[in-house]
Amino acid sequence: MNTDAAEDGELLPDVAALDAFVEREGYTGNRRHDQAELDAVRALRPRLRALWGADEDEAVDLVNAMLREGRALPQLMRHDGWDYHLHATGDDAGLDVRLMVEFAMAMVDVIRMKELDRLRICAAPDCDDVLVDLSKNRSRRFCLQGCGNRQNVAAYRARKAASSGTASSGTPSPGAAAGGAA
Ligand SMILES: [Zn+2]
Ligand SMILES: [Zn+2]
Repeated sequence: MNTDAAEDGELLPDVAALDAFVEREGYTGNRRHDQAELDAVRALRPRLRALWGADEDEAVDLVNAMLREGRALPQLMRHDGWDYHLHATGDDAGLDVRLMVEFAMAMVDVIRMKELDRLRICAAPDCDDVLVDLSKNRSRRFCLQGCGNRQNVAAYRARKAASSGTASSGTPSPGAAAGGAA
């Protein structure tokens, strides 16, 4: 439950948004509630994002660096109604360090299970949000910000425009079904 920091692509405009994020994710431990903490968490994002598009060896280097830097020392913990789970940093570590190490620990599993291809960038042309495809058939292509719907609408409009514009001969439309077995 606490281990899915990977898909935190949301915006953190201010300390209040960070507080809400921490609350929502159920993070415990040391907090500062100040701009420096927010800046540190924001600065983390490009580092985490670098995993998207990294090949396996590059991803391993990035993850190992995070684990080293965060002095990760995994310990099984049980608290606040959560059953045993791993904490790899002490509660006194900064929020950014705890988030970084938790992300790195999640990526350890992803890499070991050969699942790096589940880290995707949204397929919408005007969106570069990252996503983690947790679907069974690895079919997720769009982020959760509504891009899938927008793309469907755009494709529908394009088809309509194409069919009303050009000859109305009954050519079977190859477009929609073309990539079927992908
Ligand atoms: Zn915990
Ligand atoms: Zn998107």
